[in-house]
Amino acid sequence: MDRASLVIGYRVRGKCDRSRYHGSEMKNTARILNGIEIAAEIKAEVAAEVRALQAEGITPGLVVVLVGHVAASEIYVRSKVKTSAESITTDEMLALIADLNARDEVDGILIQLPLPGHVDTRRLLEAVSPEKDVDGFHPINAGRLQSGRPALAPCTPAGILEILRRSKLPIAGQHAVVLGRSDIVGKPAAMMLLNAHATVTVCHSKTVDIGRYTRDADILVAAIGRPGFVTAEMVKPGATLIDVGINRLTDAAEVERFFPGDAERAAQLARRGSTLVGDIHPAAFALSGAFTPVPGGVGALTIAMLMHNTVQAAKARRGGRGKA
Ligand code: NAP
Repeated sequence: MDRASLVIGYRVRGKCDRSRYHGSEMKNTARILNGIEIAAEIKAEVAAEVRALQAEGITPGLVVVLVGHVAASEIYVRSKVKTSAESITTDEMLALIADLNARDEVDGILIQLPLPGHVDTRRLLEAVSPEKDVDGFHPINAGRLQSGRPALAPCTPAGILEILRRSKLPIAGQHAVVLGRSDIVGKPAAMMLLNAHATVTVCHSKTVDIGRYTRDADILVAAIGRPGFVTAEMVKPGATLIDVGINRLTDAAEVERFFPGDAERAAQLARRGSTLVGDIHPAAFALSGAFTPVPGGVGALTIAMLMHNTVQAAKARRGGRGKA
């Protein structure tokens, strides 16, 4: 397995600080949906499931395939892990995936995206066995999700649903507006909300007058990759705001525009050269009923959901056939 990367440690950084979102002069009751706490809850549950599986002689195994240099990744690999060369071909990767598909001890296969341009990403994603597709990107899993059947679901939207459910926020009967229609976030998030009985509207770059839809949203999921796109005027007071966007700000004037007078953000910019903002303008959070901060919201859930999917994949494929 010289070209794959065997797993894996993970780490979620950052903590939620209420004062960063709620100015002292601003009276509000918006609830912060703390992704780090919810992720910790899920990880503890996953750890208990792993222990139960290990008692049966089954150790869930996840393989992450990294090609070339991966800059920003939430996944921290152990030193024995190797990454494949940038020059790897589609055929070589297909052979690697076939090998991983055949290995019984491998329960989950994750191909770290984006892949270099010369590699046929779609073909590779479709080559992963659907029962090991812990990213939930295989058309079989997308189809299962669409028809409401059990499936390995994409981690980020699955994390969104966990945040809503574990925070006891209503979904059924709510108007959920999803901004973005990517295969990774927007579309599966919309499908999961629909399966949970929300009335769903999906907006994208060709939608005319997005505010018309967002102002009616009880649950607003923003996943477009545009810093602070959703302004306070676009939000229904009391709505639940789920901010998936991860946008890096490197300019001091920009940071001041999004986080006026926020000394901690300014210090972060000075220290690290950047700070993060979501797709929802921080000023909109104060009007909401509940919101996910950036960082420390949706992003914190993704790895926990990956671990969850890996254990589900192990149980579905190997459960009940451990030590006799
Ligand atoms: P993507 O593949 O680039 O898709 C962006 C979507 O937003 C597209 O559907 C696009 O519409 C739409 N869009 C772009 N500009 C728009 C605008 N001005 N108005 C309305 N819609 C617009 O992005 P993605 O992978 O879904 O990611 C979206 C954001 O979520 C990014 O900031 C990404 O970093 C973040 N993300 C976070 C996590 C996490 O763990 N928190 C995970 C994945 C992604 P068209 O379809 O019409 O082009």
